[in-house]
Formats: sequence, C-alpha cells, structure tokens
Amino acid sequence: MHVKNIVVGAGYAGATLARRIAEEKGEPVLVVERHDHIAGHAYDHYNEHGILVHKYGPHIFHTTDKAVWDFLSRFTEWHLYQHRVLSYVDGMLVPMPISAETVNMLYNLGLSAPQVEAWLAEHAEKVPEIRNSEDVVLSKAGRDIYEKFFKNYTFKQWDKYPAELSPDVIKRIPVRANRDTRYFTDRYQGLPRRGYTEMFRGLLAHPLISVMLQTDWFAVKKELTWDRLYFTGPVDRYFEYSEGPILYRSVRFEYETVFGKEFVQEAGTVNYPNDYDFTRVTEYKRLTGQTALDRTTVAREYSSAEGEPFYIVPDEANLALAKKYAALAAAEPNTRFLGRLAESRYYNMDQVVARVLGLAL
Ligand code: FAD
Ligand code: UDP
Repeated sequence: MHVKNIVVGAGYAGATLARRIAEEKGEPVLVVERHDHIAGHAYDHYNEHGILVHKYGPHIFHTTDKAVWDFLSRFTEWHLYQHRVLSYVDGMLVPMPISAETVNMLYNLGLSAPQVEAWLAEHAEKVPEIRNSEDVVLSKAGRDIYEKFFKNYTFKQWDKYPAELSPDVIKRIPVRANRDTRYFTDRYQGLPRRGYTEMFRGLLAHPLISVMLQTDWFAVKKELTWDRLYFTGPVDRYFEYSEGPILYRSVRFEYETVFGKEFVQEAGTVNYPNDYDFTRVTEYKRLTGQTALDRTTVAREYSSAEGEPFYIVPDEANLALAKKYAALAAAEPNTRFLGRLAESRYYNMDQVVARVLGLAL
C-alpha cells in the first residue's frame, strides 16, 4: 500500500503534524501508534473509581506562546488551573520553587521581597562558570537550599547528582525573591476541560487523518511505501541502536485511591527530596478540578532506568550520543524527526507544539 504521509506516534508532535498536513496541504495522513491509545505521554483516562488520572505522570499545560494556546483551544476548553507544588523539607511543607515564602518559612524569618533578594545574594556562592546543575543552584541560592531541595531529589530522579547533569535540568526551576508560589508563571496555563485524550480526539478528527493503534512502525513498515515519513518515537530505535542505546529514565507510578475524603494533600504535587524512595506525589483531583466525589486518587512516582522511556538522561556522554543520532536523522531522506524522544530534547508539551507549528511543511 502507498501512503503520501506517514506519521509515527500519536502524541503532541504526531497529532499536530497530522492536523497541519491534512488542513494545510489537503493530503491524506496515516498515523501509526504503538499504544492502544492516542495522546502519547499526555494520555489521561478515568480509573476504576471514576477519577481522571494521567497514565504517564502529571501533565500541566503552560505556555507563553499565544499561537500554541490558540491552536489547541480549537480542540478544547480549559480548566484554568495554576499548579502549586510543596516540598517536604525539615518536617515542613514549603512552597517550591524557592520564593520569599519558602525562605521565610524554612528559616523562620519575616523578610520582605527585597530583603529576600539580599538574603539570597548573601547566601549564594560565587561560581565563575556554570558548568552543571549544581552550579545553577549554588550560584542563585547557596549550599543549604541546594542540599535540602535539589541534591537528593535529583539523585532519586536521575540516579546522578546535579554536578553530573547539564545546567539545563535545574534551570527549569527558577529561584524567586518574590511571593509568587505558582510552579509556572506562564501567561496561559490549564488542563483541557474534558481531559487531554478528548482534546487529542478533536485534533485527530479530520477526514484526511487515519489512525492505526496498537501498531509498531517497525513491524508494519515493510508493507507500506510513502512519500514522506514523520517519526516521533525514540531516535536510537529508528536507527537500530547503530551508535549504541541512548540512556533514558522511566517512572513507575504507584496509585492509591483513598475513600471517604475529598482531598488528602494540600497541593497538586508534593515533592519529597529527602524522605522515602518516591520523588513526588500528585493528587489528580487538584489538577483536573473534578469535584463532588467522596474519594481521591494519588500517584507516587518512582524513577527507574527500566520501562517506557520518558526522559533522556542529560549528562555529557549521553548528550554527545544523542548528537550522533541527530546527525543521522538530518541525513535521512524524506524523513523528519520531531518531538521529545525523536530530537532528544527535554521539551514541555507546548514546546513540541510550537516546534511543529513553526515547521515549513
Ligand atoms: P510522546 O508523547 O512520547 O509521543 C510519541 C508517541 O510515539 C508515543 O505515543 C509512542 O507510543 C509513539 N511511538 C514511539 N515509538 C513508536 C513506534 N515504533 N511505532 C509506533 N508508535 C511509536 N510537559 C508539560 O508541558 N507539562 C507537564 O506538566 C509535563 N509533565 C510531564 C511529566 C512526566 C512524568 C513526563 C514523562 C513528561 C512530562 N511532560 C510535561 C512532557 C510531555 O510529556 C512531552 O513534552 C510530550 O508528551 C512530548 O510529546 P511527543 O509527541 O514528543 O512524544
Ligand atoms: N528538582 C529538584 N527538586 C525539586 C524539583 C525539581 O531537584 O523539588 C530538579 C530535578 O533534577 C528535576 C529537575 O529539577 O529532574 C526538573 O524538575 P521538573 O519539576 O521540571 O521535572 P519534571 O516535571 O520534568 O519531571
């Protein structure tokens, strides 16, 4: 069978691509997806207790890019949620990222925002050159905050200390001197009102788009020919690991539904840098806004080297390996590699959409 356009993967990269090709070029697209569902790692579903949960970990949409927000808003209304995270440190639940509130609670101070700015400057270490993720925190907030919030969380998450990881990892988390305790400060934030999967259903609902689920590309590609291929899965798998396997981290989720209570924790997510083996606990109803239920589901996250690849490990050797694959990808005829694992980039959802919306098709 001959197909003009094939998209491998029905996540953000694949679904946005398929929609653009169908709408803007008026050409048919076949989307091939390995899993039995659309929406990639943003997939959500109702569990056996009627609670909407995210199968691959908590996903909060946030962007500063109006074009991305407007594009997705064609397919969903939004529950205008702003994420808050608390970190369990020294027996207290304190706001994360570090803000004036965190410093005041942790050290029992009553400082104003400008005073916190001075406090941070006084405690920050002089780092002549930011070479890794440890340097990032030391240079902004100093060693005590580094040790309490970042060192052990990062080790649990990556099986590496911040000194072994690219600065970009911890640069994701700001240090603020003001009182803003939101996790993200982007202008547009929320969750699709009826869930991510429903939003993807709308995105893929076009007469020129067909979706084949439970189909591994490598099992069916011999039966097809095509003009253009768009690949959004792991790049090393595509090239049959010719340069060696890229290291990925996965996460195992342990779910618990508690009955007779509306909520069990004070924020959407609580991080546990120094206690327990899990990194964080998310209470889904806080994110989705689901109400009027006498039960609530939480998910504890255990980071792991095994399982579905989620994150590329951002150390020097692994990033160098990813570069080799990027060079192979760039030379592959009639094929484009797009998305988090295809491009080995720590993209958020909106960045994947922005990347695909910005392409010349
Ligand atoms: P994916 O969603 O991974 O989609 C790729 C698809 O390709 C998958 O469905 C996969 O099954 C399919 N595929 C792979 N190989 C094959 C094959 N051989 N044949 C057929 N199909 C194949 N981002 C945010 O913006 N906010 C958040 O709060 C947030 N939280 C996150 C929490 C966790 C735990 C994780 C892991 C990620 C989080 N992200 C978050 C990032 C977000 O998940 C990604 O940015 C986004 O899902 C990437 O989309 P994608 O299309 O590149 O990849
Ligand atoms: N991080 C940390 N302590 C925290 C939160 C984050 O050390 O309480 C570090 C950790 O290395 C983590 C990175 O910052 O992997 C990025 O955090 P983010 O919340 O963006 O991770 P994600 O949601 O992508 O898993």
